[in-house]
Amino acid sequence: MLENVLEVGERPEDLVVYASLGKAARDWPAYHAIVAALRELEEDQTLVLQTGRPIGVLRTHAHAPMVVSAVNNTVGRWATEERFYQRMRDGQTIWGGLTAAAWQYIGRQGVLAGTYELLREVLRRDFAATSGEGRWLLTAGLGGMGSAQPISARMLGLSSLVVEADPAKIEKSRAAGGVDAVAATLDEALALVRAGTNTAVALLGNASTVFAEIAAGVVTPDIVSDQTAAHDALYGYLPEGLTPAEWHELREKDPEQVQDRARRSMARQVNAMLTLADRGAVAFENGNNLRVQVESLVPGADRIPGFMPAYLRPLFCRGIGPFRWVALSGSEQDLSVTDELAATLFPERPEVAEWIKLARDQIPPQGLPARSCWLGHGERSRLAVAVNQAVRAGRISAPVLFSRDHLDSAGMTHPRIGTEGMRDGSDGVTDWPLLDAMLLSAAGADLVAVHSGGGGYAGWMQSAGVSVVADGSLAAESRLRLALDLDSGLGVLRHATAGYPEAEAALSPDLTFLAKENDDA
Ligand code: NAD
Repeated sequence: MLENVLEVGERPEDLVVYASLGKAARDWPAYHAIVAALRELEEDQTLVLQTGRPIGVLRTHAHAPMVVSAVNNTVGRWATEERFYQRMRDGQTIWGGLTAAAWQYIGRQGVLAGTYELLREVLRRDFAATSGEGRWLLTAGLGGMGSAQPISARMLGLSSLVVEADPAKIEKSRAAGGVDAVAATLDEALALVRAGTNTAVALLGNASTVFAEIAAGVVTPDIVSDQTAAHDALYGYLPEGLTPAEWHELREKDPEQVQDRARRSMARQVNAMLTLADRGAVAFENGNNLRVQVESLVPGADRIPGFMPAYLRPLFCRGIGPFRWVALSGSEQDLSVTDELAATLFPERPEVAEWIKLARDQIPPQGLPARSCWLGHGERSRLAVAVNQAVRAGRISAPVLFSRDHLDSAGMTHPRIGTEGMRDGSDGVTDWPLLDAMLLSAAGADLVAVHSGGGGYAGWMQSAGVSVVADGSLAAESRLRLALDLDSGLGVLRHATAGYPEAEAALSPDLTFLAKENDDA
Protein backbone atom coordinates (compact mmCIF):
# COMPACT_ATOMS: atom_id res chain seq x y z
CA MET A 1 0.00 0.00 0.00
CA LEU A 2 2.94 2.33 0.64
CA GLU A 3 4.14 1.74 -2.91
CA ASN A 4 0.60 1.99 -4.24
CA VAL A 5 -0.11 5.43 -2.76
CA LEU A 6 2.97 6.69 -4.57
CA GLU A 7 2.08 4.92 -7.81
CA VAL A 8 -1.32 6.64 -7.89
CA GLY A 9 -0.09 9.85 -6.21
CA GLU A 10 0.46 13.29 -7.72
CA ARG A 11 4.24 13.79 -7.25
CA PRO A 12 5.81 10.49 -6.26
CA GLU A 13 9.34 11.85 -6.69
CA ASP A 14 8.63 14.18 -3.73
CA LEU A 15 6.59 11.50 -1.89
CA VAL A 16 3.56 13.78 -2.35
CA VAL A 17 0.33 11.83 -2.74
CA TYR A 18 -2.35 14.56 -2.99
CA ALA A 19 -3.66 17.96 -1.81
CA SER A 20 -0.40 19.76 -2.66
CA LEU A 21 1.53 18.58 0.43
CA GLY A 22 0.06 15.29 1.68
CA LYS A 23 3.05 12.92 1.94
CA ALA A 24 3.49 9.15 2.27
CA ALA A 25 6.68 9.38 4.37
CA ARG A 26 9.00 12.04 5.81
CA ASP A 27 11.71 11.73 3.14
CA TRP A 28 13.34 9.09 0.97
CA PRO A 29 15.73 7.73 3.66
CA ALA A 30 12.69 7.34 5.95
CA TYR A 31 10.77 5.62 3.13
CA HIS A 32 13.56 3.05 2.61
CA ALA A 33 13.92 2.51 6.36
CA ILE A 34 10.17 1.86 6.63
CA VAL A 35 10.29 -0.68 3.79
CA ALA A 36 13.31 -2.44 5.36
CA ALA A 37 11.58 -2.59 8.76
CA LEU A 38 8.35 -3.96 7.23
CA ARG A 39 10.27 -6.70 5.42
CA GLU A 40 11.83 -7.87 8.71
CA LEU A 41 8.76 -7.39 10.91
CA GLU A 42 7.83 -10.49 12.94
CA GLU A 43 4.27 -11.48 13.73
CA ASP A 44 4.45 -10.36 17.35
CA GLN A 45 6.07 -7.00 16.60
CA THR A 46 4.70 -3.53 15.88
CA LEU A 47 6.44 -0.87 13.80
CA VAL A 48 6.10 2.59 15.33
CA LEU A 49 6.01 5.58 12.94
CA GLN A 50 6.27 9.20 14.08
CA THR A 51 5.42 11.83 11.51
CA GLY A 52 6.42 9.68 8.58
CA ARG A 53 9.64 8.17 9.88
CA PRO A 54 10.25 4.82 11.61
CA ILE A 55 11.12 5.18 15.29
CA GLY A 56 11.37 1.57 16.38
CA VAL A 57 9.99 -1.93 16.40
CA LEU A 58 8.44 -3.06 19.66
CA ARG A 59 7.43 -6.52 20.91
CA THR A 60 3.62 -6.66 21.16
CA HIS A 61 1.62 -9.81 20.26
CA ALA A 62 0.35 -11.59 17.20
CA HIS A 63 -3.00 -9.79 17.19
CA ALA A 64 -1.61 -6.30 17.80
CA PRO A 65 -1.35 -3.77 14.94
CA MET A 66 1.57 -4.24 12.54
CA VAL A 67 1.97 -0.47 12.28
CA VAL A 68 0.93 2.38 14.54
CA SER A 69 1.50 5.88 13.24
CA ALA A 70 1.05 9.43 14.55
CA VAL A 71 1.54 12.35 12.16
CA ASN A 72 2.08 16.01 13.06
CA ASN A 73 -0.06 15.97 16.21
CA THR A 74 0.79 19.25 17.91
CA VAL A 75 -0.53 21.04 21.01
CA GLY A 76 -3.17 23.65 20.16
CA ARG A 77 -1.12 26.81 20.60
CA TRP A 78 1.65 25.47 18.39
CA ALA A 79 -0.62 24.10 15.69
CA THR A 80 -0.27 27.18 13.47
CA GLU A 81 0.43 27.44 9.75
CA GLU A 82 3.65 29.43 10.37
CA ARG A 83 5.15 26.91 12.78
CA PHE A 84 4.11 24.07 10.47
CA TYR A 85 5.83 25.57 7.41
CA GLN A 86 8.97 26.34 9.40
CA ARG A 87 9.17 22.80 10.76
CA MET A 88 8.36 21.39 7.32
CA ARG A 89 11.21 23.40 5.73
CA ASP A 90 13.53 22.15 8.47
CA GLY A 91 12.55 18.54 7.65
CA GLN A 92 10.93 18.10 11.08
CA THR A 93 7.35 17.49 10.04
CA ILE A 94 5.04 16.60 7.17
CA TRP A 95 1.34 16.77 6.58
CA GLY A 96 0.06 13.21 6.23
CA GLY A 97 -3.09 14.21 4.39
CA LEU A 98 -5.94 12.02 5.47
CA THR A 99 -4.83 8.83 3.77
CA ALA A 100 -1.39 9.67 2.32
CA ALA A 101 0.86 8.85 5.30
CA ALA A 102 -1.51 6.06 6.35
CA TRP A 103 -1.05 4.40 2.91
CA GLN A 104 -4.79 4.16 2.27
CA TYR A 105 -5.15 6.43 -0.76
CA ILE A 106 -6.43 4.56 -3.83
CA GLY A 107 -6.35 7.40 -6.34
CA ARG A 108 -9.29 9.42 -7.46
CA GLN A 109 -11.87 6.68 -6.85
CA GLY A 110 -12.04 7.39 -3.10
CA VAL A 111 -13.09 10.97 -3.59
CA LEU A 112 -15.06 10.02 -6.69
CA ALA A 113 -17.41 7.86 -4.64
CA GLY A 114 -17.76 10.68 -2.09
CA THR A 115 -18.45 13.28 -4.76
CA TYR A 116 -20.99 10.93 -6.36
CA GLU A 117 -22.81 10.49 -3.02
CA LEU A 118 -22.70 14.24 -2.46
CA LEU A 119 -24.02 15.22 -5.92
CA ARG A 120 -26.67 12.50 -5.66
CA GLU A 121 -27.86 14.11 -2.40
CA VAL A 122 -27.77 17.60 -4.00
CA LEU A 123 -29.96 16.39 -6.87
CA ARG A 124 -32.31 14.59 -4.50
CA ARG A 125 -32.71 17.43 -2.02
CA ASP A 126 -32.50 20.56 -4.16
CA PHE A 127 -33.99 19.33 -7.43
CA ALA A 128 -36.09 16.34 -6.27
CA ALA A 129 -34.31 14.40 -9.02
CA THR A 130 -32.38 11.16 -9.30
CA SER A 131 -30.59 12.27 -12.47
CA GLY A 132 -28.77 15.47 -13.36
CA GLU A 133 -29.98 15.34 -16.95
CA GLY A 134 -30.22 18.79 -18.49
CA ARG A 135 -28.37 20.46 -15.60
CA TRP A 136 -24.76 21.54 -15.18
CA LEU A 137 -22.18 22.11 -12.46
CA LEU A 138 -19.59 24.91 -12.41
CA THR A 139 -16.47 24.09 -10.41
CA ALA A 140 -12.66 24.35 -10.44
CA GLY A 141 -9.58 22.20 -9.84
CA LEU A 142 -8.53 19.00 -11.62
CA GLY A 143 -5.96 17.87 -9.05
CA GLY A 144 -5.71 14.56 -7.20
CA MET A 145 -9.17 14.99 -5.69
CA GLY A 146 -10.74 17.58 -7.95
CA SER A 147 -10.32 15.40 -11.05
CA ALA A 148 -13.10 13.20 -9.63
CA GLN A 149 -15.68 15.96 -10.05
CA PRO A 150 -16.41 15.65 -13.79
CA ILE A 151 -16.50 11.85 -13.61
CA SER A 152 -18.95 11.64 -10.72
CA ALA A 153 -21.10 14.36 -12.27
CA ARG A 154 -21.22 12.38 -15.54
CA MET A 155 -22.23 9.22 -13.65
CA LEU A 156 -25.33 11.12 -12.54
CA GLY A 157 -26.10 12.56 -15.97
CA LEU A 158 -24.90 16.02 -14.91
CA SER A 159 -22.75 18.16 -17.25
CA SER A 160 -19.79 19.99 -15.75
CA LEU A 161 -17.47 22.89 -16.47
CA VAL A 162 -14.19 22.63 -14.54
CA VAL A 163 -11.80 25.60 -14.55
CA GLU A 164 -8.17 24.55 -14.08
CA ALA A 165 -5.04 26.72 -14.13
CA ASP A 166 -2.51 24.04 -15.01
CA PRO A 167 -2.62 22.72 -18.62
CA ALA A 168 -0.83 19.52 -17.53
CA LYS A 169 -3.70 18.69 -15.14
CA ILE A 170 -6.23 19.24 -17.91
CA GLU A 171 -4.31 16.97 -20.25
CA LYS A 172 -3.97 14.30 -17.56
CA SER A 173 -7.71 14.34 -16.93
CA ARG A 174 -8.53 14.27 -20.64
CA ALA A 175 -6.15 11.35 -21.28
CA ALA A 176 -7.67 9.39 -18.36
CA GLY A 177 -11.21 9.90 -19.69
CA GLY A 178 -12.09 12.40 -16.95
CA VAL A 179 -13.11 15.33 -19.13
CA ASP A 180 -14.68 14.84 -22.56
CA ALA A 181 -13.69 18.17 -24.10
CA VAL A 182 -11.26 21.03 -23.56
CA ALA A 183 -12.85 24.35 -24.51
CA ALA A 184 -10.77 27.11 -26.10
CA THR A 185 -12.95 29.94 -24.78
CA LEU A 186 -15.51 30.52 -22.05
CA ASP A 187 -18.26 30.96 -24.65
CA GLU A 188 -17.42 27.59 -26.18
CA ALA A 189 -17.37 25.99 -22.72
CA LEU A 190 -20.77 27.43 -21.80
CA ALA A 191 -22.28 26.31 -25.10
CA LEU A 192 -21.02 22.75 -24.52
CA VAL A 193 -22.35 22.36 -20.98
CA ARG A 194 -25.67 23.98 -21.84
CA ALA A 195 -26.30 21.66 -24.79
CA GLY A 196 -27.90 19.11 -22.45
CA THR A 197 -25.70 16.23 -23.56
CA ASN A 198 -24.07 15.14 -20.25
CA THR A 199 -20.64 16.51 -21.16
CA ALA A 200 -17.61 17.17 -18.96
CA VAL A 201 -15.72 20.25 -20.16
CA ALA A 202 -12.41 21.66 -18.95
CA LEU A 203 -11.36 25.30 -19.43
CA LEU A 204 -7.82 26.56 -18.87
CA GLY A 205 -7.91 29.62 -16.63
CA ASN A 206 -7.93 31.01 -13.14
CA ALA A 207 -11.08 30.08 -11.20
CA SER A 208 -11.23 33.57 -9.76
CA THR A 209 -11.25 35.23 -13.18
CA VAL A 210 -13.58 32.77 -14.89
CA PHE A 211 -16.13 32.57 -12.05
CA ALA A 212 -16.24 36.40 -11.98
CA GLU A 213 -16.76 36.51 -15.76
CA ILE A 214 -19.64 34.04 -15.53
CA ALA A 215 -21.20 35.99 -12.64
CA ALA A 216 -20.95 39.19 -14.69
CA GLY A 217 -22.86 37.51 -17.56
CA VAL A 218 -26.37 36.17 -17.78
CA VAL A 219 -25.77 32.43 -17.69
CA THR A 220 -26.28 30.69 -14.32
CA PRO A 221 -25.12 27.17 -13.51
CA ASP A 222 -27.51 24.86 -11.66
CA ILE A 223 -24.83 24.02 -9.10
CA VAL A 224 -21.61 25.87 -8.21
CA SER A 225 -18.71 24.68 -6.08
CA ASP A 226 -14.90 24.53 -6.10
CA GLN A 227 -12.12 22.05 -5.51
CA THR A 228 -8.90 23.96 -5.92
CA ALA A 229 -6.58 23.30 -2.96
CA ALA A 230 -7.84 26.58 -1.43
CA HIS A 231 -7.22 25.31 2.10
CA ASP A 232 -3.57 26.26 1.54
CA ALA A 233 -3.18 29.92 0.53
CA LEU A 234 0.55 29.49 -0.05
CA TYR A 235 0.79 26.22 -1.98
CA GLY A 236 -2.75 25.41 -3.05
CA TYR A 237 -4.40 28.34 -4.85
CA LEU A 238 -2.90 30.20 -7.79
CA PRO A 239 -3.40 33.97 -7.34
CA GLU A 240 -4.81 35.89 -10.30
CA GLY A 241 -2.22 37.57 -12.50
CA LEU A 242 0.50 34.96 -11.95
CA THR A 243 1.51 32.06 -14.16
CA PRO A 244 2.16 28.76 -12.34
CA ALA A 245 5.94 29.29 -12.88
CA GLU A 246 5.85 32.84 -11.44
CA TRP A 247 3.78 31.53 -8.51
CA HIS A 248 6.35 28.85 -7.64
CA GLU A 249 9.13 31.40 -7.75
CA LEU A 250 7.34 34.11 -5.77
CA ARG A 251 6.25 31.85 -2.94
CA GLU A 252 9.87 31.11 -2.13
CA LYS A 253 10.80 34.83 -2.28
CA ASP A 254 7.74 36.45 -0.75
CA PRO A 255 5.33 33.98 0.84
CA GLU A 256 3.25 36.69 2.53
CA GLN A 257 2.55 38.44 -0.76
CA VAL A 258 1.49 35.13 -2.31
CA GLN A 259 -0.91 34.33 0.56
CA ASP A 260 -2.40 37.79 0.46
CA ARG A 261 -2.90 37.73 -3.31
CA ALA A 262 -4.32 34.20 -3.18
CA ARG A 263 -6.87 35.19 -0.52
CA ARG A 264 -7.93 38.25 -2.54
CA SER A 265 -8.41 36.06 -5.62
CA MET A 266 -10.40 33.56 -3.59
CA ALA A 267 -12.56 36.44 -2.35
CA ARG A 268 -13.36 37.37 -5.94
CA GLN A 269 -14.30 33.76 -6.65
CA VAL A 270 -16.50 33.52 -3.54
CA ASN A 271 -18.24 36.80 -4.40
CA ALA A 272 -19.00 35.34 -7.82
CA MET A 273 -20.38 32.18 -6.18
CA LEU A 274 -22.64 34.32 -3.97
CA THR A 275 -23.90 36.24 -7.01
CA LEU A 276 -24.66 32.96 -8.79
CA ALA A 277 -26.39 31.65 -5.64
CA ASP A 278 -28.54 34.80 -5.59
CA ARG A 279 -29.48 34.02 -9.19
CA GLY A 280 -30.64 30.53 -8.16
CA ALA A 281 -27.57 28.31 -8.36
CA VAL A 282 -27.15 25.76 -5.55
CA ALA A 283 -23.78 26.66 -3.97
CA PHE A 284 -21.78 24.66 -1.44
CA GLU A 285 -18.20 24.34 -0.26
CA ASN A 286 -16.68 20.96 -0.97
CA GLY A 287 -14.29 20.51 1.92
CA ASN A 288 -11.46 22.86 0.92
CA ASN A 289 -11.81 25.62 3.54
CA LEU A 290 -12.51 28.25 0.86
CA ARG A 291 -14.88 30.19 3.14
CA VAL A 292 -12.38 30.29 6.02
CA GLN A 293 -9.74 31.81 3.74
CA VAL A 294 -11.98 34.76 2.85
CA GLU A 295 -13.70 35.23 6.23
CA SER A 296 -12.43 38.78 6.73
CA LEU A 297 -12.75 39.74 3.04
CA VAL A 298 -16.23 38.57 2.08
CA PRO A 299 -19.04 39.35 4.51
CA GLY A 300 -21.73 36.72 4.10
CA ALA A 301 -19.40 34.01 2.78
CA ASP A 302 -21.04 31.71 5.31
CA ARG A 303 -24.23 31.89 3.25
CA ILE A 304 -22.49 29.13 1.27
CA PRO A 305 -23.05 25.97 3.31
CA GLY A 306 -20.48 23.25 3.92
CA PHE A 307 -21.25 19.99 2.15
CA MET A 308 -21.40 17.92 5.34
CA PRO A 309 -24.19 19.60 7.33
CA ALA A 310 -26.03 20.44 4.09
CA TYR A 311 -26.01 16.97 2.55
CA LEU A 312 -24.02 14.06 3.99
CA ARG A 313 -24.50 14.06 7.77
CA PRO A 314 -27.65 11.86 7.77
CA LEU A 315 -25.51 9.12 6.19
CA PHE A 316 -22.72 9.53 8.78
CA CYS A 317 -25.40 9.20 11.50
CA ARG A 318 -25.98 5.66 10.27
CA GLY A 319 -22.25 4.94 10.10
CA ILE A 320 -22.47 5.08 6.28
CA GLY A 321 -19.28 6.56 4.88
CA PRO A 322 -16.34 6.12 2.51
CA PHE A 323 -15.37 2.48 2.99
CA ARG A 324 -12.87 0.91 0.54
CA TRP A 325 -10.95 -2.24 -0.23
CA VAL A 326 -7.92 -3.18 -2.31
CA ALA A 327 -7.08 -6.49 -4.05
CA LEU A 328 -3.44 -6.88 -2.99
CA SER A 329 -2.83 -9.51 -5.69
CA GLY A 330 -3.20 -6.82 -8.35
CA SER A 331 -5.74 -9.10 -10.05
CA GLU A 332 -8.88 -7.55 -11.57
CA GLN A 333 -10.54 -10.96 -11.20
CA ASP A 334 -10.11 -10.75 -7.41
CA LEU A 335 -11.74 -7.32 -7.46
CA SER A 336 -14.64 -8.75 -9.48
CA VAL A 337 -15.34 -11.34 -6.79
CA THR A 338 -15.43 -8.63 -4.10
CA ASP A 339 -17.65 -6.44 -6.30
CA GLU A 340 -20.12 -9.29 -6.80
CA LEU A 341 -20.29 -9.87 -3.06
CA ALA A 342 -20.89 -6.16 -2.39
CA ALA A 343 -23.58 -6.00 -5.10
CA THR A 344 -25.51 -8.96 -3.70
CA LEU A 345 -25.15 -8.66 0.10
CA PHE A 346 -27.31 -5.56 0.64
CA PRO A 347 -30.57 -5.94 -1.33
CA GLU A 348 -32.30 -3.59 1.16
CA ARG A 349 -30.06 -0.79 -0.13
CA PRO A 350 -30.23 -1.06 -3.94
CA GLU A 351 -28.01 2.04 -4.28
CA VAL A 352 -25.01 -0.12 -3.30
CA ALA A 353 -25.43 -2.45 -6.29
CA GLU A 354 -26.13 0.59 -8.53
CA TRP A 355 -22.86 2.21 -7.45
CA ILE A 356 -20.86 -1.02 -7.95
CA LYS A 357 -22.17 -1.29 -11.51
CA LEU A 358 -21.38 2.35 -12.30
CA ALA A 359 -17.94 2.05 -10.74
CA ARG A 360 -17.14 -1.11 -12.73
CA ASP A 361 -18.30 0.48 -16.00
CA GLN A 362 -16.94 3.99 -15.63
CA ILE A 363 -13.97 4.26 -13.28
CA PRO A 364 -10.64 3.94 -15.08
CA PRO A 365 -8.29 1.60 -13.19
CA GLN A 366 -5.53 3.26 -11.17
CA GLY A 367 -2.87 1.35 -9.23
CA LEU A 368 -3.90 -1.81 -7.40
CA PRO A 369 -7.50 -2.88 -8.20
CA ALA A 370 -9.62 -1.15 -5.57
CA ARG A 371 -13.20 -0.26 -4.82
CA SER A 372 -14.59 2.61 -2.81
CA CYS A 373 -18.15 2.01 -1.63
CA TRP A 374 -20.22 3.85 0.98
CA LEU A 375 -21.27 1.19 3.50
CA GLY A 376 -22.61 1.57 7.03
CA HIS A 377 -22.46 0.03 10.48
CA GLY A 378 -22.69 -3.75 10.27
CA GLU A 379 -22.53 -3.72 6.46
CA ARG A 380 -18.77 -3.20 6.37
CA SER A 381 -17.97 -6.15 8.60
CA ARG A 382 -20.47 -8.38 6.77
CA LEU A 383 -18.76 -7.73 3.47
CA ALA A 384 -15.24 -8.04 4.89
CA VAL A 385 -16.01 -11.36 6.55
CA ALA A 386 -17.54 -12.68 3.29
CA VAL A 387 -14.44 -11.59 1.38
CA ASN A 388 -12.18 -13.18 3.99
CA GLN A 389 -14.09 -16.44 3.53
CA ALA A 390 -13.62 -16.15 -0.25
CA VAL A 391 -9.88 -15.72 0.30
CA ARG A 392 -9.84 -18.80 2.52
CA ALA A 393 -11.79 -20.81 -0.07
CA GLY A 394 -9.36 -19.76 -2.83
CA ARG A 395 -12.03 -17.85 -4.81
CA ILE A 396 -9.85 -14.78 -4.26
CA SER A 397 -6.17 -15.42 -4.95
CA ALA A 398 -4.51 -13.24 -2.27
CA PRO A 399 -5.33 -11.06 0.75
CA VAL A 400 -7.64 -8.05 0.42
CA LEU A 401 -7.08 -4.87 2.44
CA PHE A 402 -10.05 -3.05 3.98
CA SER A 403 -9.82 0.61 4.87
CA ARG A 404 -11.67 3.92 4.63
CA ASP A 405 -11.12 7.62 4.23
CA HIS A 406 -10.41 9.41 7.53
CA LEU A 407 -13.35 11.70 6.79
CA ASP A 408 -15.76 9.18 8.24
CA SER A 409 -18.43 8.93 10.89
CA ALA A 410 -16.06 8.56 13.88
CA GLY A 411 -12.64 9.17 12.34
CA MET A 412 -12.64 12.90 11.71
CA THR A 413 -12.84 16.19 13.53
CA HIS A 414 -12.67 19.22 11.24
CA PRO A 415 -15.04 22.06 12.10
CA ARG A 416 -15.30 23.16 8.46
CA ILE A 417 -15.52 19.72 6.90
CA GLY A 418 -16.61 16.57 8.74
CA THR A 419 -17.96 18.17 11.90
CA GLU A 420 -19.25 21.55 10.82
CA GLY A 421 -22.41 22.60 12.66
CA MET A 422 -22.71 19.55 14.92
CA ARG A 423 -25.97 19.71 16.85
CA ASP A 424 -24.25 19.62 20.26
CA GLY A 425 -21.62 22.20 19.34
CA SER A 426 -18.86 19.57 19.32
CA ASP A 427 -17.48 20.75 15.95
CA GLY A 428 -13.89 21.10 17.20
CA VAL A 429 -13.80 18.31 19.80
CA THR A 430 -11.07 15.79 18.95
CA ASP A 431 -12.00 13.15 21.53
CA TRP A 432 -13.81 11.11 18.89
CA PRO A 433 -10.95 10.29 16.49
CA LEU A 434 -8.70 9.64 19.49
CA LEU A 435 -11.22 7.23 21.04
CA ASP A 436 -11.60 5.67 17.62
CA ALA A 437 -7.85 5.01 17.29
CA MET A 438 -7.74 3.47 20.78
CA LEU A 439 -10.63 1.14 19.97
CA LEU A 440 -9.08 0.19 16.63
CA SER A 441 -5.79 -0.74 18.31
CA ALA A 442 -7.70 -2.76 20.91
CA ALA A 443 -9.44 -4.58 18.06
CA GLY A 444 -6.09 -5.55 16.54
CA ALA A 445 -6.48 -3.63 13.29
CA ASP A 446 -3.33 -4.00 11.17
CA LEU A 447 -2.57 -0.29 10.81
CA VAL A 448 -3.86 2.49 13.04
CA ALA A 449 -2.96 6.12 12.34
CA VAL A 450 -3.70 9.40 14.09
CA HIS A 451 -3.18 12.49 11.93
CA SER A 452 -3.41 16.19 12.63
CA GLY A 453 -3.68 18.99 10.07
CA GLY A 454 -0.71 20.60 8.34
CA GLY A 455 -0.24 23.50 5.92
CA GLY A 456 -3.49 25.45 5.66
CA TYR A 457 -5.20 22.73 7.73
CA ALA A 458 -2.82 23.27 10.69
CA GLY A 459 -4.93 23.52 13.81
CA TRP A 460 -8.04 22.56 11.88
CA MET A 461 -8.25 18.80 11.98
CA GLN A 462 -7.62 15.56 13.80
CA SER A 463 -8.32 12.21 12.24
CA ALA A 464 -7.95 8.49 12.74
CA GLY A 465 -7.31 5.94 9.99
CA VAL A 466 -7.48 2.17 9.90
CA SER A 467 -6.49 -0.71 7.63
CA VAL A 468 -7.23 -4.40 8.21
CA VAL A 469 -6.06 -7.22 5.95
CA ALA A 470 -8.35 -10.14 5.10
CA ASP A 471 -5.83 -12.95 4.63
CA GLY A 472 -8.39 -15.73 4.85
CA SER A 473 -7.47 -16.78 8.41
CA LEU A 474 -9.95 -17.11 11.27
CA ALA A 475 -7.87 -14.59 13.24
CA ALA A 476 -8.32 -12.07 10.42
CA GLU A 477 -12.07 -12.72 10.44
CA SER A 478 -12.22 -11.81 14.11
CA ARG A 479 -10.04 -8.68 13.63
CA LEU A 480 -12.16 -7.53 10.68
CA ARG A 481 -15.42 -7.97 12.54
CA LEU A 482 -14.16 -6.26 15.69
CA ALA A 483 -12.33 -3.35 14.08
CA LEU A 484 -14.91 -2.47 11.45
CA ASP A 485 -17.86 -2.73 13.86
CA LEU A 486 -16.10 -0.70 16.58
CA ASP A 487 -15.19 1.99 14.06
CA SER A 488 -18.63 2.48 12.49
CA GLY A 489 -20.34 1.78 15.84
CA LEU A 490 -18.45 4.62 17.51
CA GLY A 491 -19.56 6.84 14.62
CA VAL A 492 -23.23 6.03 15.28
CA LEU A 493 -22.74 6.63 19.03
CA ARG A 494 -20.98 9.94 18.38
CA HIS A 495 -23.89 11.22 16.32
CA ALA A 496 -26.48 9.86 18.77
CA THR A 497 -24.59 11.65 21.56
CA ALA A 498 -24.76 14.86 19.53
CA GLY A 499 -28.56 14.51 19.40
CA TYR A 500 -29.24 13.25 15.87
CA PRO A 501 -32.44 11.14 15.82
CA GLU A 502 -31.19 9.39 12.62
CA ALA A 503 -28.29 8.02 14.70
CA GLU A 504 -30.52 6.89 17.54
CA ALA A 505 -32.67 5.09 15.01
CA ALA A 506 -29.55 3.35 13.69
CA LEU A 507 -28.46 1.97 17.10
CA SER A 508 -28.12 -1.79 16.75
CA PRO A 509 -28.17 -4.37 19.58
CA ASP A 510 -24.35 -4.42 19.71
CA LEU A 511 -24.25 -0.71 20.60
CA THR A 512 -25.10 0.33 24.16
CA PHE A 513 -25.82 4.04 24.17
CA LEU A 514 -25.30 5.69 27.56
CA ALA A 515 -24.92 9.40 26.85
CA LYS A 516 -28.64 10.08 26.54
CA GLU A 517 -29.42 8.64 29.99
CA ASN A 518 -26.56 10.71 31.42
CA ASP A 519 -27.88 13.86 29.80
CA ASP A 520 -31.38 13.19 31.09
CA ALA A 521 -30.01 12.57 34.58
P1 NAD B 1 -4.39 19.34 -5.69
O1 NAD B 1 -3.39 20.25 -5.07
O2 NAD B 1 -3.96 18.01 -6.19
O3 NAD B 1 -5.13 20.08 -6.89
C1 NAD B 1 -5.56 21.41 -6.84
C2 NAD B 1 -5.77 21.87 -8.28
O4 NAD B 1 -6.29 23.19 -8.29
C3 NAD B 1 -4.46 21.90 -9.08
O5 NAD B 1 -4.62 21.16 -10.26
C4 NAD B 1 -4.23 23.39 -9.33
O6 NAD B 1 -3.57 23.63 -10.57
C5 NAD B 1 -5.65 23.92 -9.34
N1 NAD B 1 -5.71 25.33 -8.99
C6 NAD B 1 -5.11 25.98 -7.97
N2 NAD B 1 -5.44 27.26 -7.96
C7 NAD B 1 -6.28 27.45 -9.00
C8 NAD B 1 -6.98 28.57 -9.48
N3 NAD B 1 -6.88 29.76 -8.91
N4 NAD B 1 -7.77 28.41 -10.57
C9 NAD B 1 -7.89 27.22 -11.18
N5 NAD B 1 -7.25 26.12 -10.76
C10 NAD B 1 -6.45 26.24 -9.67
O7 NAD B 1 -5.57 19.19 -4.60
P2 NAD B 1 -6.68 18.05 -4.54
O8 NAD B 1 -6.10 16.80 -3.98
O9 NAD B 1 -7.41 17.97 -5.82
O10 NAD B 1 -7.65 18.64 -3.41
C11 NAD B 1 -8.39 19.83 -3.66
C12 NAD B 1 -9.04 20.34 -2.38
O11 NAD B 1 -10.11 19.50 -1.98
C13 NAD B 1 -8.10 20.40 -1.19
O12 NAD B 1 -8.34 21.57 -0.47
C14 NAD B 1 -8.47 19.21 -0.39
O13 NAD B 1 -8.13 19.32 0.97
C15 NAD B 1 -9.96 19.20 -0.60
N6 NAD B 1 -10.59 17.89 -0.40
C16 NAD B 1 -11.84 17.86 0.09
C17 NAD B 1 -12.47 16.66 0.25
C18 NAD B 1 -13.80 16.63 0.80
O14 NAD B 1 -13.90 16.62 1.98
N7 NAD B 1 -14.81 16.68 -0.03
C19 NAD B 1 -11.88 15.46 -0.10
C20 NAD B 1 -10.61 15.53 -0.61
C21 NAD B 1 -9.99 16.76 -0.78
